[in-house]
Amino acid sequence: MSSTPPGRSRNGEVARLLEGIAGLLEVKGEQAFRVNAYRNAARRIEGLSEPIETVHTEGRLREIQGVGVALEQKLGEYLTTGSLRYYEALRAEFPPGLVELLEVPGLGPRKARLVFEQLGVGSLVELEAAAREHRLRDVPGLGERTEQNLLTEIDRLKRRTTRHQVEATLTIAEELLDRLRACPAVRRAVYAGSLRRMQDTIGDVDLLVAAERPEEVERCVLELPQVRDVLRQGPARTSILVRGGLQVDVRAVEPKSWGAALQYFTGSKAHNIRLREIAIKRGWKLNEYGLFDERTGTLVAGAEEDDVYDALGLQPIPPELREDTGEIELAAEGRLPRLLELSDIRGDLHLHSNWTDGGSSVEEMARAALALGREYIALTDHSKSLGVTNGLTEQRIAEQRLVIDEVNQALAPFRVLQGTEMDIKREGRLDYDDETLASLEYVSASIHSGMKQTREVMTERIARALRNRYVATLNHPHGRLIGSRAAYEVDMAAVIRVAVEHGVALEINSQPARMDLESIWARRGRDAGAKFAINTDAHATGQLGLMRFGVATARRAWLGPEHVLNAWPLADLLGHLAARRRIP
Ligand SMILES: [Zn+2]
Ligand SMILES: [Zn+2]
Repeated sequence: MSSTPPGRSRNGEVARLLEGIAGLLEVKGEQAFRVNAYRNAARRIEGLSEPIETVHTEGRLREIQGVGVALEQKLGEYLTTGSLRYYEALRAEFPPGLVELLEVPGLGPRKARLVFEQLGVGSLVELEAAAREHRLRDVPGLGERTEQNLLTEIDRLKRRTTRHQVEATLTIAEELLDRLRACPAVRRAVYAGSLRRMQDTIGDVDLLVAAERPEEVERCVLELPQVRDVLRQGPARTSILVRGGLQVDVRAVEPKSWGAALQYFTGSKAHNIRLREIAIKRGWKLNEYGLFDERTGTLVAGAEEDDVYDALGLQPIPPELREDTGEIELAAEGRLPRLLELSDIRGDLHLHSNWTDGGSSVEEMARAALALGREYIALTDHSKSLGVTNGLTEQRIAEQRLVIDEVNQALAPFRVLQGTEMDIKREGRLDYDDETLASLEYVSASIHSGMKQTREVMTERIARALRNRYVATLNHPHGRLIGSRAAYEVDMAAVIRVAVEHGVALEINSQPARMDLESIWARRGRDAGAKFAINTDAHATGQLGLMRFGVATARRAWLGPEHVLNAWPLADLLGHLAARRRIP
């Protein structure tokens, strides 16, 4: 979409400024040629093959088509000072939230002006309220359908701007840390916050840096090539915006406070409140600088995070557990559970090949899994009614069997199980009959269609599928796609009950856009006695490494290897699958 050259060129930023001006002028009812002048200049600047800063310093702004004397002056002012009085004055004529209205797809400046003039709607929140109260449909030119579409867009916009997928966020955080570690002032650098706790989705990123002279870190942060915007700067904390609108806070602390700061900025808030209470009971004070004796002010602990927990009489608590849901009590008794590790994972029970919508052959997928140290996989290509994926007919299942047999011979003792990701059709009917299912070694079932059904209908539909003796696992139980599709309506507590009763495992799908089942529900499943399968749902060999995200979710759900089918040796897994088929 944007053709912003790499590095810190401000072309995109300047183009957005001009777009913003054009939008506001349009809302104001200015003549089209003035509006278009800004819009055309925005497009030219975004498409420049060199940084606009260079063009400016070399006095060549007028060479850009559509830039006259007035615009040259404005661009010069903005590039030199970082703001533009003309734009600020224009913005001041409207409520502050109006600018965000211009970013709602499907609204546009002309309709934004109408809803502002006729309904006084001047922000995203007000627009959402007006749509929910069905007031928008009465504005000429909008109507019921636009109102409905706008609600969807608002929803998407709200999610996109507030929560980020964990994998993309982790990639950015690691890039930034690599750069920061190269900064001479920096001794240590890590990520903290919700990313260290590995939440399903991430708001802001917190980076923590140890430096003898923290004030020297600020310059390194500002020089990071990833910086798109600086929100706040200072010796102790610098906040920047990077790609995707992600906010990153970099905090610099002295090495003697490192452990306390890491503990503090990892959170969660609820967990930290409990820790501070324990400190107070002992006559201490805990903050981001250390654990101190309240009377004497002496530092009790602070250099390493484990020291802080140790001084408080607690086992070190894995970041994924720090939510105050029982971990502090158990740590005080030295009874924290042994959590699943990535190295416990022996198999992967959900992946696709080019027999359906995957990009790699059966053999390629098997060899890639073997290279990652897996001992077995279940190949779960789609079932016949999912036509868009070229789902397997009974005939093609039989043909695929021969290919799998060959791969198994070549790679023994590594083992490919022939499985299926079978569609659960409406009313809970299955996509294959029992005879076909009996011929497969591993049957998992998924909802891919009819997601708008009511909660009752959906719950019964899933429950009915799980009662079939061949179904071993329910895949991505909530069906959400982070940032684009909400989970379907379902009584998950009831689904868990049925799964436990019939010995059906629940999947934790590791695709970053899914992260489904979520950790909160997986924890409830664990407490109810459920078993799990943690899978990549890989559609190509490169995705087999996504397992770490599913494992992180499992850890947040307090799962150990005993809860996870694909952490078991193959013989145990096969025994479990056979037993499942004996439970009607
Ligand atoms: Zn699926
Ligand atoms: Zn799948």
